[in-house]
Amino acid sequence: MGLWPVRPAELHSAETAKADSMSAGRTDWKSIFRRAEERDVSTTIIRNGRVIDPANRRDEVVDLVIVDGRIADLSAIRNPQSAIAEIDATDLIVVPGLIDIHVHLREPGFGWKETIESGARAAAAGGFTTVVCMPNTAPVADNPATITWIKNRAAEIACVNILPTGSISKNLLGEELAPIGSLRQTGAVAITDDGHCVQNHELMRRAVEYARMVGIPVLDHCQDYNLVGNGVVNEGYWSTLLGLPGWPAAGEEAMVMRNILLAELCNHPIHCQHISTAGSVRLIREARARGVKISGEVCPHHIALTDDAIQNFETNFKMNPPLRSQHDVDAIVQGIADGTFTILASDHAPHAQFEKEVEFDAAPFGIVGLETELGLFLDLLIHKKRAITINRLVEMYTVEPAKLLNIEAGTLSPGARGDVTIIDANLDWRVNTSEFESLSRNTPFGGWKLRGRAVRTIVNGETVWELNRSKRPSKIAATA
Ligand SMILES: [Zn+2]
Repeated sequence: MGLWPVRPAELHSAETAKADSMSAGRTDWKSIFRRAEERDVSTTIIRNGRVIDPANRRDEVVDLVIVDGRIADLSAIRNPQSAIAEIDATDLIVVPGLIDIHVHLREPGFGWKETIESGARAAAAGGFTTVVCMPNTAPVADNPATITWIKNRAAEIACVNILPTGSISKNLLGEELAPIGSLRQTGAVAITDDGHCVQNHELMRRAVEYARMVGIPVLDHCQDYNLVGNGVVNEGYWSTLLGLPGWPAAGEEAMVMRNILLAELCNHPIHCQHISTAGSVRLIREARARGVKISGEVCPHHIALTDDAIQNFETNFKMNPPLRSQHDVDAIVQGIADGTFTILASDHAPHAQFEKEVEFDAAPFGIVGLETELGLFLDLLIHKKRAITINRLVEMYTVEPAKLLNIEAGTLSPGARGDVTIIDANLDWRVNTSEFESLSRNTPFGGWKLRGRAVRTIVNGETVWELNRSKRPSKIAATA
């Protein structure tokens, strides 16, 4: 029997039978379906969709079956009983539930901006079945009690999977390490001081070493405080013309460089969040070519907009890191195309209207992103720039984040969780902020016409969001 414990007979359910029959090599799905039907468990069949499952190098028009919250092999069943729920996915793309690795849910502490419940609904409406939330809450997620609170709250109220991160330093101050082992034990999938950045390289080295010890990656918001100072917009033509304090590209690149050195020194993954400059792309590309465990992510605003958008002092164009030049945008798109970047994410950062309606200098950084990111990336990367294939885009939202975080998600393999996103890649729609599920509306993309979006989000075999069944994002005619 090897090292595997023998299961007591009374625990031998359909679930274990399913696992046993799969491990036996040939899966007897007919008998699994029979058992599923006998037990009256939920079964859903998604018909005629183009199934793209990069984890299994699969891209074919086929039916997908979810039994009891798990992906099933379907070939055994062509004519399921009418009791089984059917979803018609003709002309649609069926992919593993998308993962957003960079989201601010604002709870505990800032429930007027977003709650775990509203943030999860926004995620579902954007096509996401799993989101990773940042620790800059109040209290900061630098202790097991706060991580536990977030997990319990999510289990109670969230319609998608919520995975918490813990902070690197206590209270995000960059002075003393948080209890990384305890954070990991409580369920943190990574550590990050996002919104802040540990300036002390020795402290950061210790953090990476502890993270390696407990087997979680380090995510870093790359910002050198001395170089950036009080910068609020890209240092360049527009900062000079408008008299706004500049945030130089080198302020990001210095920390990307630091992270490359530490990832190499500690032989452990460091993931650079929301990369914005051409220099960072070059540094990450060169380091990855040498085999360094460094990675980077891109947010849609950093390729959809440049810093000339700030000339009307509209605070929904203020984010950190800031919008950059066309040269930077081109380099980032090139980095996505050549595989330098492995992950796409939103940096969903909700703020209430009264907080953003102040002078540019005083406004908080950040924009909401969950409900627009997939549409923006499909529109820009697939339809307009043709930078990558849709298969790669799906991979960057599924396999890649799952691999970095070492989580069970991002695949449609039989037995995997029944988390599925259905996408209409050619649907023309307009961003209408009044229809957002998020509590906040701070986006520069209101009114934008985009091509492609999620139309249904399924978690654990249950539809948690569907385009036409809600009053949500308005569909417009393709010819409009
Ligand atoms: Zn950040």
